[in-house]
Amino acid sequence: MKKIEFFKHSINEEDINNVNRILRSIFLTTGEEVSRFEEEFSSYTGIKHTIGLTSCTAALHLSLIALGIGQGDEVITTPMSFCATANAIIQAGARPVFVDVEEETGNINAELIESVITERTKGIIPVHLYGQMCDMKRLREIAEKYRLKIVEDAAHAIEASRDGIRVGHLGDTACFSFYATKNITSGEGGAVCTDDRDMAEHLKRLRIHGIDKEASERYTRRYQHWDMPVFGWKYNMDNIQAAILRGQLGRIEALWKERDRVWRLYEEELKGVNGLRLLRTLPHSRHARHLFTVLVPPTRRDSILWALQNRGIGVAVNYRPIHLLKYYRETFGYKEGDFPVAEEIGASTISLPLYPSLSDEDARYVANTLKEIMRGKS
Ligand SMILES: *Cc1c(COP(=O)(O)O)cnc(C)c1O
Repeated sequence: MKKIEFFKHSINEEDINNVNRILRSIFLTTGEEVSRFEEEFSSYTGIKHTIGLTSCTAALHLSLIALGIGQGDEVITTPMSFCATANAIIQAGARPVFVDVEEETGNINAELIESVITERTKGIIPVHLYGQMCDMKRLREIAEKYRLKIVEDAAHAIEASRDGIRVGHLGDTACFSFYATKNITSGEGGAVCTDDRDMAEHLKRLRIHGIDKEASERYTRRYQHWDMPVFGWKYNMDNIQAAILRGQLGRIEALWKERDRVWRLYEEELKGVNGLRLLRTLPHSRHARHLFTVLVPPTRRDSILWALQNRGIGVAVNYRPIHLLKYYRETFGYKEGDFPVAEEIGASTISLPLYPSLSDEDARYVANTLKEIMRGKS
């Protein structure tokens, strides 16, 4: 039987050689390789400063800390995301406040934000879902009117832009993930980006216990005493992670083109199928093509999931909405019916395999198998 993985990374010989080079060198943790990656990442995104971290969750957490958001504050976000987005708000000591999403895109519905703003609201975390950017111009207007900070969760969206605005360009910070299934990956890893130099300096300390010298500064030259002027965490990216990422970053546009090829094939094969809905790529939007999802009738979703897997096709569900996860229901009293659009998407969505090495033939097998299952009564 055919076996089509849900995801395959695109690490090649060049990346393996880069890692070898680091392993044969003396310095494994945060050093020159990380600095090079940070410079290259900034030059790709057009955001002035990049700080390499161990995860996007860390990037979200440190962003909130650096922006002075914590105990007693509220942060508005979307329930249609991975739980990391809202968890980071809780980690910072603040309270997540959800608003519902747009039916066409699954992104946060900007028009609902003002209705939940209170004295305590300090920030917004928009998530550029599946790789398509939120309406950042509208969000920026709201942020200016109510003096809120914006932390972009750009875990899906390194390559995205919308209305001429790149990802991260209207946010106070932007957070990226290099987790195992993301567009570029080091297994685990992340970065936070900002145009603000002072904040970048602050974030650099916060990633390493609040210490005022990085390991490379402390040990590559003569020993120097260090101090800890502020409290921080242990979130620093290491040279091995940076070495895995630099080559992929250099190939990022070519990798995007391959995912775009698969995306177009799916769209072509799956349009007009009875009972199946696709989300929309908006005009003037460059979609980062991170996750390809289809929406099926909620009553059939799980049986279609099982049927696809029985035919050798790897699938995922991105996402069952955060507010309905047990912890969120029990801690904040959220319940079914609170965010109907997110709940509808969460109950109907299936993610199909999408990665550069997925051949046209295999993508066509996925689409045809899905169509057959849809036509049947499973
Ligand atoms: C993967 C993901 C995260 C978390 O990324 P990590 O690097 O694993 O911490 C956050 N937000 C979204 C939308 C994600 O998909």
